Amino acid sequence: MSLVHNLSGEHNPFRRFTLFIFARFIEVPLLKLCFHILRGRYRRFGKMRWVRVLAGFLLARPFGYLGDTAKPMPYDEVLSLIDTLDGPIAVGACRCRIGHKSCSHPLETDIVIRTGYKAWMKAFPREYRQISKEEAKAIVKQTHELGMFHMIFVHCPVNLYNEYVICNCCTCGCVPYIINRELTQENYPLIDGYFMAQTDRSRCKACGKCIEVCPFSARQIVEGKSKTTGNCFGCGLCSYACPEKAITLRRLRDPILPRDEHGNAPPHHHAGLYHQHAPFKED
Ligand code: SF4
Ligand code: SF4
Repeated sequence: MSLVHNLSGEHNPFRRFTLFIFARFIEVPLLKLCFHILRGRYRRFGKMRWVRVLAGFLLARPFGYLGDTAKPMPYDEVLSLIDTLDGPIAVGACRCRIGHKSCSHPLETDIVIRTGYKAWMKAFPREYRQISKEEAKAIVKQTHELGMFHMIFVHCPVNLYNEYVICNCCTCGCVPYIINRELTQENYPLIDGYFMAQTDRSRCKACGKCIEVCPFSARQIVEGKSKTTGNCFGCGLCSYACPEKAITLRRLRDPILPRDEHGNAPPHHHAGLYHQHAPFKED
């Protein structure tokens, strides 16, 4: 296991090389193919049970557990994350949206950070441009105001320090989100367990707004009041949308992992294969 940890380390040359190869040659075609099988022009194949089983076991599982997945993060936490960054930041077109071209949400929202900055700037020097922290926060704010949610992607998630891009996501165009919803959390797991939505039921007026905006179908009206009944990923959309301020986000773990004074991950840490929590539900 220590070999896996060493190879997957944030600045390990092998991992950085695989990240560059992924950026340059694999990412966009793979996202495009997955989108068209699950929601686009080949979706009749994607509905076949054997295609789903094979795609789940042979592609989504190894990719999700060992290759690349994401943690949903509330808007305010994304702003805090940007503030903690030491290195340069760049922005380019969302890899999902330029791949399938089936979504009208803003395009220039792919904010690469840390080793992601180096890989994408090297792979696409004319398509990505360096931006300031203020510009990065303005992009996140714009997408937040459009009702989009945010996910921080982690490459080789055996090492949770390998955060490399801040994605601004929508339910119609974000391919990793669509894979998670279509092939289930078991097959392509998003990282959960940082926040959960908690409801002050005395304030809830049962307007249903939080249910409408939840990308993970995690809320329902129960006995005349809304509550979290499914697997909450702590994206925060319900809390921002509630007109009665009835929903708060309970912090379960710190989503911004502590780094040394140079912004580097600790040299010998063992994040382990990230564990899945039991679905968060309110009493
Ligand atoms: S948005 Fe707020 S008031 Fe409306 S159902 Fe949800 S918790 Fe209740
Ligand atoms: S209940 Fe849904 S919208 Fe609210 S934080 Fe959880 S996943 Fe996000």
